[in-house]
Amino acid sequence: MAGSVFVETPPRDAEIAVVGGGVAGMSTALFLARAGRDVVVLERGVPWGDASGANAGTLSLQVKRTEVLDLCKLSLDVWKRFGAEMDIDVGFGQPGGLRVATTEAEVAHLREYSEEQRQGGLEFEWMEGNQLRDMAPWLSTSVRAATFCREDAYSSPLLSGGALPAAVGKAGGRIVGHAEVTDLKREDGGYRIETKRGALRVKTLVITAGPWSGQLARMLDVALPIYVDVNMLSVTEPAPKILDRVITHIGGILSLKQLANGTILIGGGWQGRGRFAGMEKFADHVRLGQNLTTAVSVVPDLAKLRLVRTWAGYEAVAPDALPAFGRLPNNDGAYIAAAARGGFTFGPAQGLLISEMILDKPPSTPIGRFDPARLLTGAHA
Ligand SMILES: Cc1cc2nc3c(=O)[nH]c(=O)nc-3n(C[C@H](O)[C@H](O)[C@H](O)COP(=O)(O)OP(=O)(O)OC[C@H]3O[C@@H](n4cnc5c(N)ncnc54)[C@H](O)[C@@H]3O)c2cc1C
Repeated sequence: MAGSVFVETPPRDAEIAVVGGGVAGMSTALFLARAGRDVVVLERGVPWGDASGANAGTLSLQVKRTEVLDLCKLSLDVWKRFGAEMDIDVGFGQPGGLRVATTEAEVAHLREYSEEQRQGGLEFEWMEGNQLRDMAPWLSTSVRAATFCREDAYSSPLLSGGALPAAVGKAGGRIVGHAEVTDLKREDGGYRIETKRGALRVKTLVITAGPWSGQLARMLDVALPIYVDVNMLSVTEPAPKILDRVITHIGGILSLKQLANGTILIGGGWQGRGRFAGMEKFADHVRLGQNLTTAVSVVPDLAKLRLVRTWAGYEAVAPDALPAFGRLPNNDGAYIAAAARGGFTFGPAQGLLISEMILDKPPSTPIGRFDPARLLTGAHA
């Protein structure tokens, strides 16, 4: 990436430090830098080097629980505004999404689930028979029905990983790579941060370190239970257009989409193997087979393509599977955004909302239910 956004060492003093250069951290830094604040991102490796660079880029409203629909709508709006208003090419596309059902039981489940979502304010169309075939002739005839949500979208982890850090730099922010934060201390009404590239003092601290956020919070005596899933994802060779919607499944675990370069991402949350402690994550060949079998059972033409790569990555999850972001309990001037299942979807909204808290602006959507204080355990509760 060109320009002076990357600096070798942290400044000795800054107004705001954001720890973690994934989608949550970069979005936070972007909104703060655009508001004229002095912000530095401290990243252990390289930006987008973890989950934000390893994910499927699905931004699907209709797979979300009703509690997070407003947050999800806000985030989709921000993803769209990155390109439309801020000239940041994050590879956003909004072709709409089909959530498919293949058995009678799944059709009944889809009806029940979609009714609940309708009551939660989500709009979609019920599709079956010829109407469904006309819209998606590439679907297997085993698909009996689907809901179509026009707002379902995707963005490109590959493009956004270059574009968002560059935008942070253009707005005046700085990024220090290979600057793992090793210690955090409260000091003189602010925070002293030790990194592998030197120390700095800041007034405001934002922790956006994905599954490592719990470890960083513990340095400030806050115990937040944050668990880790090991998700798998596969990509095919580029192909002429096979499918033109984002696909999810009410019964099987599946997400499918074809990107502008013709490759198809096959995922959905099948679990790989690994241990967080040893930073080990691998694909699980049995579940990979199930993932691919499910994919081909929904879009048969996928069977003609070669698979190029399969990989596994960490996803942080709170015990209640809701996003956790807001003020870091018992630490004035510190904030945290972590543990959002489907966190690529929510990252831009989390960034906007954290920046609004820091800038003393009213939140763009109510955030009370996502307060990390709800997760406090033991003596910290
Ligand atoms: C295979 C896979 C597929 C997925 N598919 C989807 C999807 O389709 N849609 C969706 O919405 N979500 C998806 N997700 C989840 C999504 O990728 C994550 O929830 C999201 O990217 C988390 O972003 P983040 O910024 O919170 O954390 P991360 O992207 O994990 O970024 C955290 C950063 O913090 C850095 N860091 C950690 N510790 C320190 C430290 N001590 N000092 C400095 N830096 C530190 C890390 O190096 C990392 O770069 C998927 C995840 C995986 C693994």
